[in-house]
Amino acid sequence: MSLENHYNMRSPAVKRLMREADELKDPTEDYYAQPLEDNLFEWHFTVRGPVDTEFEGGVYHGRIILPPEYPMKPPSIILLTPNGRFEVHKKICLSISGHHPESWRPSWSIRTALLAIIGFMPTPGNGAIGSLDFTPEERKVLAKKSLEWGCPQCGDIKPLVLQLSGKPSSTNLEAQDIVKQMTLESEADKANSSEFPESSTDLASPEVPPETEQQPSSDNTAPPAPLGNKPSEEELRSETRRLGNELRERFAANRQRIAARIETVMAANSGTQINIGATPATSSVTNNSDSTPSRNSTSISNVASYTAICFLSLGIALLLIRRLFFI
Ligand SMILES: [Zn+2]
Repeated sequence: MSLENHYNMRSPAVKRLMREADELKDPTEDYYAQPLEDNLFEWHFTVRGPVDTEFEGGVYHGRIILPPEYPMKPPSIILLTPNGRFEVHKKICLSISGHHPESWRPSWSIRTALLAIIGFMPTPGNGAIGSLDFTPEERKVLAKKSLEWGCPQCGDIKPLVLQLSGKPSSTNLEAQDIVKQMTLESEADKANSSEFPESSTDLASPEVPPETEQQPSSDNTAPPAPLGNKPSEEELRSETRRLGNELRERFAANRQRIAARIETVMAANSGTQINIGATPATSSVTNNSDSTPSRNSTSISNVASYTAICFLSLGIALLLIRRLFFI
């Protein structure tokens, strides 16, 4: 495959997508997905309608658009085969898709997305973005018709998944697990977002907002901006105050540490002088560390404060002189 020459192999998204493409290269009975030959960031997928549902017997095809920030940001999922559960040529709303960037986890993968599509198929649409509530009869008709449907790029889709072997498959159970997990995740996000009324996450809205209408041809690889909670002015102010206090405390601590160090160094120096005359050089080291005469340290701090005062008055004098000369 020539993809390796076209992409920066050090990009985390490219690395990850190459790995996923390799992991998913063999079709299964229930799903198959691979990137387009000339675009690693657009995949076409095929999923089999889950057994014991009105989608049984159907095979459905669609696109997965990966953002450049994948896996940090979620993929967008677009169904192409009419199915009666998801609108076609429109980004659909699963917890995993680009409509819910806040409930996406980077550990989820394209395989997770495929299982989510299978898992969400038999669940009620509840008016979520891109969902349809066709009757079971209509869906069964579409399931039959889906076998004749072809993708302009991939051709016939029925042979893209393996034929059913009759052996029990764990895919549906796994898909149901993922749906449960995602529903919980999205519930938790709803709860979180309701605590911050400014963030306009509209997860529960049954109406389709007009801006989410997608033209079939639009290759919108840019995912919606993450719905972060914008801090209020009051929060910003208290944060600034907190940072200011922290800085002040750090300055004070540093000042004390430096003063203490100057004192010990000065004390050590004066101690050495005394020791040189009085005791052998070998013991002078031990004497230095524990004997710090208090008289010395007070005189040192006096010297330090005198110096500070001198500098301060010098500064004030300079300022005054400048002012006098400029006025
Ligand atoms: Zn295709």
